[in-house]
Amino acid sequence: MELLERLADRFPQSPDRVRLKAALLYAGVRYDQSLAEAADWAFPNYMPYMLPPGEPAFRGQRKVNLPYLVRGADDTQVRLRVKPDSPFSIRPDDSALGFGLFYGPDDRHLTSLTFEPRLPWVDALTADGTSMRSTGLSQHGDMLVLNVAPGCEYFVVPEGEKTRNLSCSFCLYGLPDKRMDALGQKLYEVGLPAATVKRVVEACGHPETAATQLYLVGGSMLDMRKEGARYLQIAEALQSQGLHERYYVAAGSGALHRDDMLRLKDAGVRGACFNMEVWDAAQFARVCPGKDKVVGRERWIQSLEEAVEVFGPDNVMTAFVGGVELDGEGAMADPREALESNIEAAEYFIPRGVQTIYSLHWKVTGKNRGEEPVYSLELLLELNERLAAIRKREGRLINPAFFSRRSAYMQLEPDYDEDPTA
Ligand code: SF4
Repeated sequence: MELLERLADRFPQSPDRVRLKAALLYAGVRYDQSLAEAADWAFPNYMPYMLPPGEPAFRGQRKVNLPYLVRGADDTQVRLRVKPDSPFSIRPDDSALGFGLFYGPDDRHLTSLTFEPRLPWVDALTADGTSMRSTGLSQHGDMLVLNVAPGCEYFVVPEGEKTRNLSCSFCLYGLPDKRMDALGQKLYEVGLPAATVKRVVEACGHPETAATQLYLVGGSMLDMRKEGARYLQIAEALQSQGLHERYYVAAGSGALHRDDMLRLKDAGVRGACFNMEVWDAAQFARVCPGKDKVVGRERWIQSLEEAVEVFGPDNVMTAFVGGVELDGEGAMADPREALESNIEAAEYFIPRGVQTIYSLHWKVTGKNRGEEPVYSLELLLELNERLAAIRKREGRLINPAFFSRRSAYMQLEPDYDEDPTA
């Protein structure tokens, strides 16, 4: 049976558009030159694509830019992946959107689509001549992601004369590196340079971001109170420009102290997302040694529950890395055990007003490193069907002001909860 037909048979409770998105996340699309042409105006993937042998060069180049995000006719958003053996391809059609998604051995036209465009703010400069793209701001559809302190202190926990690496096992992006120099972030220091904050706030204030959500993130600090103070500096700067009214501002920090949550709320922050990454206690200690030793699992959970009291039950989430329990030394051996652990997390959190969000974990070691998720497509859909059923049973759907179909480019939760035809 072909891929989509197999999924329809196995997951009749999932809407067609969700099964299609999940299939595209896994199977990707075959390369077509029109994708490289679309990168002239679409928001580009940060990683260029190497054309495989046999594929003619594009404008004399074998390394080409491709669009980052597909935007469906019903506004479903999916990260674009290119895989040579995919049953899908994207190429121009005669629709108003400009492109069609074709599928299967008979190359059937499934739907029309386009790509998320490169918006004007990306090429604009701040008053001091800095490219807005270099201010620590990025975008996925509805959501701007603000990260002006990318270096994570869990990578360099002081221990005597040396430092110890207690970073999360899947994480590469928090590694302290030269991004910190450009932004002026200093390890173990709360304050960020005023110029850095001013520039990113200016970029957020660009009139053509077309975003409604502003998600504040950064590397973790070893002191929860210091981390709270750092987020407050940013939130107050946004508030001073009235941007807390234009955007739904959320703190995607580590677990915070309740007093700092209250201060953030006063500074216009409406939501919190303290990512637990993995639920099972033994796996939490293995996968997230920094979070486990510095904050502690119980304290992390308590902080999420306090966040519900401060921000309200529609305004708190925690993200998990789906399948990370199954990767590396000391991993769970059985994918179903991982799935049931994920469901246990949802059964704990959702009734308490905390939404659980699952991103796919792409293998970081071994032969298929970075190419294939650890969870199978079937497991991801089963997990999401069950999560959606829990949210429905509890009367707690994902708040689209916080996290919407047009910001979920690698996750499925809002796709289950929002009805695009409503
Ligand atoms: S807390 Fe973990 S996931 Fe977050 S930046 Fe640090 S190492 Fe990476």
